[in-house]
Amino acid sequence: MCGIVGISSSADVSFSLYYALYALQHRGQESAGIATFNGSGLCKYKENGLVSEVFNEQVLKSLVGKVGIGHVRYPTTGENRPENIQPFLFTFHGHVIAIAHNGNLVNYRELRAEFENRGQIFWSTSDTEVISKIITESIRKGGTIEDAVKKCMACLKGSYSVVMLYDGDLYAFRDPHGIRPLCFGRTESGYMVASESVALDALNGKLERDVLPGEMIHISGDEIRFKQIAVASRKGHCVFEYIYFARADSYIDGSLVYDVRRKIGAQIFEEKPIQADAVCTVPDSGTAYAVGFSEKSSIPFVECLIKNRYMGRTFIMPTQEKRERAVRIKLNPIPDHLRDRSIILVDDSIVRGTTSRRIIESMKDAGAREIHMRIGSPIIKAPCYLGVDMPTRAELIGSDKDVEQVRKSITATSLHYLSIESLVNAIGLPCHDLCLGCLTGCYPVEIRNEQCDDRCVTLVDRDVQTSLFERES
Ligand code: AMP
Repeated sequence: MCGIVGISSSADVSFSLYYALYALQHRGQESAGIATFNGSGLCKYKENGLVSEVFNEQVLKSLVGKVGIGHVRYPTTGENRPENIQPFLFTFHGHVIAIAHNGNLVNYRELRAEFENRGQIFWSTSDTEVISKIITESIRKGGTIEDAVKKCMACLKGSYSVVMLYDGDLYAFRDPHGIRPLCFGRTESGYMVASESVALDALNGKLERDVLPGEMIHISGDEIRFKQIAVASRKGHCVFEYIYFARADSYIDGSLVYDVRRKIGAQIFEEKPIQADAVCTVPDSGTAYAVGFSEKSSIPFVECLIKNRYMGRTFIMPTQEKRERAVRIKLNPIPDHLRDRSIILVDDSIVRGTTSRRIIESMKDAGAREIHMRIGSPIIKAPCYLGVDMPTRAELIGSDKDVEQVRKSITATSLHYLSIESLVNAIGLPCHDLCLGCLTGCYPVEIRNEQCDDRCVTLVDRDVQTSLFERES
């Protein structure tokens, strides 16, 4: 998962890009980068680390330009190497280009092999580089950026929300299934596109709407143009954005994520009513769910776990042992709120089961009598190939265990997961407009050895070959 932003303005944009990336930090903590166009060439700065660690005032002042893009990275394809840090910058046929991508391309290897077989070199192991290759290939043949984006939508399989600088113009496009979010809005002095609306809030901007699946936006100075490039027979918005990934204060497709989660909390209670002394959140990811559960059940919301705010996400720790230790340092139970009480513990998801098991152990050690675990997502059964770091089936506790077996493994008194029907209902979009791959094992795009329910993408103007290269004569 990653976060992206693009801004075109009548004033310099580097500080605005920095604040926007700060608001998107939850989408990726491995590296951060900004590229701006200064009127003749590109300025860039990118490094491993958090936004606050990578940039300082001096660096931001050196990033001159009224148009620019930014990226925070959370790796799904490509190792943690300097050459994989985005935005990617290159020059081609006298044009300067910078590109940043959120998503994961499932046919990356095939596309890369096609380019390599024609003698092209790659300098990173990131799937984003094939997008740049498709774009330069299209320019080489005399095409416009719109042609290049058409080519991308004809050839790429997977999820891609992209921002791009092409000389002084800003482009943004979203895959035809709309798997990863992307929205656009206005700032006081220009336009902005970003992974989530919280980036607009950070600049006091106004959210206009989500970029449509298959749509391209072209911003040139103060002119903005929208073009539908392709349509898919179904959309595939990622449910995990609503469940965990997006910030609760973001709006996705017109819904406030916090309210979707609060509604889910209420539905968890309706599906399986229970009585207990207190409803407790696993902070912060479980909080909106716990609030909804408490409102619906009239069981008081009591904080029993306090989060150390100065730790990164435990998931990012490379080994199981380090992850387990990190969970203990991250969440500290309050014995006075737990002693001899029956607690409903609400979290967004169980992936490997490490977090829930450790938390339940520590709450019992602190004196809790019963821990009834309630989970805002349905049982996670299958990996994500489309941009969320969701491990292999072997690591997913829910892939081969039923609810009772998971309950035993995490040592909860009782366990209930929200049903898929209630999740879809809370999100408020039709089932076929959502990617439920991690819950059902059936994906909106074709993935080798997995089920796919519908894969039809149609270009709006049908004048692009779906094969990358013409046959060699
Ligand atoms: P686990 O210990 O593997 O069951 O992790 C579940 C916890 O990690 C939940 O509390 C979530 O808030 C969080 N989580 C779920 N999915 C992810 C992800 N893809 N990346 C980072 N954290 C996650």
